[in-house]
Amino acid sequence: MQPFKPSTIFYTPDSLNDRGIKALQTYVDAKHVEIKQHNRLPAIDGNHFQVKSDVLVLGKLKTLICRESGRSSDFISPSLANGCMGACAYCYVDRNKPVNPITLFTNTEEILGAVEKHVQKQAWPKIPNQTHAKFYTYDIGCNSDISVDAVLSDSVKETVDFFAKHPKAFATFATKFVNPELLTYEPAGKTRIRFSLMPATVSKLVDVRTDAIEKRIAAINDFYQAGYEVHLNFSPVIVYEGWQQDYRELFEKLNQEVHPQVKARMSCEVIFLTHNQWQHEANLAINPKAESLIWTPENQETKRSQFGGINVRYQYQLKAQLVQEFKALQQEIIPWCPIRYIF
Ligand code: SF4
Repeated sequence: MQPFKPSTIFYTPDSLNDRGIKALQTYVDAKHVEIKQHNRLPAIDGNHFQVKSDVLVLGKLKTLICRESGRSSDFISPSLANGCMGACAYCYVDRNKPVNPITLFTNTEEILGAVEKHVQKQAWPKIPNQTHAKFYTYDIGCNSDISVDAVLSDSVKETVDFFAKHPKAFATFATKFVNPELLTYEPAGKTRIRFSLMPATVSKLVDVRTDAIEKRIAAINDFYQAGYEVHLNFSPVIVYEGWQQDYRELFEKLNQEVHPQVKARMSCEVIFLTHNQWQHEANLAINPKAESLIWTPENQETKRSQFGGINVRYQYQLKAQLVQEFKALQQEIIPWCPIRYIF
């Protein structure tokens, strides 16, 4: 992982508990600026992508709500952070925000308290589903990348510890980074890490500032050894001339590298690309090569998002065919990795 060295830290006074103070002290050379609200930042110099690596915001999360999910998890926990230093061309976390630096929420104990309250209200035992046969699953990384958040404070360690000891709740997150610090935690099989994978040549173009696909694949066995459940997140699947051959090669590499013990417990999820008009326009100035792969109006259709933006996705009938092609490849080459869901 490339180091994160913000030159400016904005903080709200209520974020300065021990964790917040420690984060400020970690970056003593950065300019520290007090603000009233973590989601109302003053004007910041630099484009969207520079801001993601140069600015950190410390805040206190006020809305402590667990939301329904049903796909990657049963529920989405209140966010430990929002934003990420990566600059993936299609990142949904960045949509509709002119600048989106990492905001670290320092009130981890309150966030976990909300999960505790929520899970205790659920019927027990849980009815088994595709997210887990026994435990209620909480996605802890829907608005950030947890591997990056773990660099900023002890909040991820505390969260992994919380779930490790919890009799009913189970954590899960997808990541595009490899942070070896996580290997020193003790997840006790109660945190599922979902390494996000796509063909390496495409990832180099669209997954800006994340860790290389080869590195993510090489980390799979290590994370299993360290006590994580390891799944795969094939997301986003980008369609272009020859995509099937590139996925064939990716699957063959997985066949070679994933240890048999890990294969026996691994599943995956598959999500075809959704992109966004605002992002497309912002990317054109910075990463036009990526856009030629992910903005393909000839095979995409538009959909107005719940926030009013224009999203694009592969045309309905084409998508049905793509899903079948992906499933056939998975069955042929990595049948040990069943698909939990695909869309
Ligand atoms: S790693 Fe994930 S959260 Fe970070 S920019 Fe990429 S898609 Fe967004």
